[in-house]
Amino acid sequence: MSKPLKILFVSGEVVPFAKTGGLADVMGSLPQAVEDQGNEARIMMPKYGIINDRKFRLHDVLRLKDIKVPLGDREELLSVKVTALPSSKIQTYFLYHEGFFKRDGLYTSPSTKKDYQDNDERFIFFNRGVLETLKQLGWKPDIIHCHDWMSALIPAYLKLMYKNDPFFKGTKTIYTVHNLAYQGAFHKSALQKSKLPESEYTPEGLEFYDSFNFMKIGLIYADLITTVSERYAEEIRTDEELASGLKGVLNKRKRDLSGILNGIDENVWSPATDEFIEKQFNADDLAGKTENKKALLKRLKLPYKEGTPVISIISRLVDQKGFDLIVESFDKLMQLDLQFVLLGTGQKEYEDFFRAAEKKYPEKFSATMSFNDELAHLIEAGADMFLMPSKYEPCGLNQMYSLKYGTIPIVRATGGLVDTVRQYKSGKGNGFVFEKYTAGEMMKAIKEALEVYRDQKNWVKIVQNGMASDFSWESSAKKYDALYRKLMEVK
Ligand code: ADP
Repeated sequence: MSKPLKILFVSGEVVPFAKTGGLADVMGSLPQAVEDQGNEARIMMPKYGIINDRKFRLHDVLRLKDIKVPLGDREELLSVKVTALPSSKIQTYFLYHEGFFKRDGLYTSPSTKKDYQDNDERFIFFNRGVLETLKQLGWKPDIIHCHDWMSALIPAYLKLMYKNDPFFKGTKTIYTVHNLAYQGAFHKSALQKSKLPESEYTPEGLEFYDSFNFMKIGLIYADLITTVSERYAEEIRTDEELASGLKGVLNKRKRDLSGILNGIDENVWSPATDEFIEKQFNADDLAGKTENKKALLKRLKLPYKEGTPVISIISRLVDQKGFDLIVESFDKLMQLDLQFVLLGTGQKEYEDFFRAAEKKYPEKFSATMSFNDELAHLIEAGADMFLMPSKYEPCGLNQMYSLKYGTIPIVRATGGLVDTVRQYKSGKGNGFVFEKYTAGEMMKAIKEALEVYRDQKNWVKIVQNGMASDFSWESSAKKYDALYRKLMEVK
């Protein structure tokens, strides 16, 4: 039996408590998968106003009340609530400060759609608060595994301010990038709020072009860096646009950077057991899929037409996800024999466009502009195809959910989409892939999928290929475990 390691996961969001994107799904299942490898995992996240104490049975930890957290020239007080992750019993700590976190959104105000003005202070407080909480708690992690900009300062605090603190002796950090484009970039005045040493404010250290950038700081100070697919790990080092200004930093840390593909939570995303869908099904009995298709169309008030495929999208409506291509080719798309269902929220111009499109094509197109987990499951179960024409995609979860539900992905060849979707050809492969980021290429791939769909024998083959894919967390967790052990130099 190998030595169990203590791993603390720190994240701005965790399913089922708070979610804006795929990061939350990962945080809801990776810690358990890491425990299954023989380790002890715990989680820390902010206690947002939207997290319902009663529903999740959060309770106060008396010992962890009014912890002092330095912030600029003042001190703020932090309290901690705790509960077990409902799916797996992983101990989850919620760092609480009413002024900073009792709001309707996580990072952005839902009404104005603007980032909160004080996100620098909120997350400086959170990062520093994590370390102060650990000391009060008396639980010393071997590794603090940080995720995205929201926890990116912890490696710097450990290296620069807690390096002589006996409590953290030997504690190492891993920093995982889930999306390099969201960096937590702030005015340099954040440096003073963080209390990180001014002497380190240089291009090799804390500074990023005269600004305070959480992501850059994480990349510089973490002991190891990972990202969520092998392809994305390569792209962000080589592609100027995808590197979002951090290519130099990433290349400097090339030896410490690796890609580990996310898994999916098969307790939540499995058509054989999914409780949100109309009829459960599996690869040997696909009749249930048609029932889900009928239920989906009925719910969205679209007519069911035998032989007409339903293409779907569930996504944040942002440029990254390829919506400019969809908007550009929308009228042409609507000329094809298909129906199209969309679920998502995001940029106003896209929401407006799809609202108008729904009026123009009432029999063919449906747009639901909300965050609706239950509908997301029914769409995965009922649609025939899933469109993901992303400009870039660090890992992407929806293409994996889609494959598991026999909903064939049509994707652009980027990031994790390359590592999970293989072009269908002569009975082999599980989806349709296009290379160039153009509306023409996307339309070509859609037409190819429609062509194959007409030959149901071939289509069943591709559906079964997709459903047979293995995206369980186990293989990813093994890779993280190997990395933890390499870092701690233990077997
Ligand atoms: P990203 O993290 O970039 O948003 P991913 O594909 O990794 O993209 O993860 C997106 C997650 O968010 C998936 O679980 C997807 O189903 C979910 N999601 C996105 N928008 C919605 C929505 N409007 N309603 C329900 N789920 C959504």
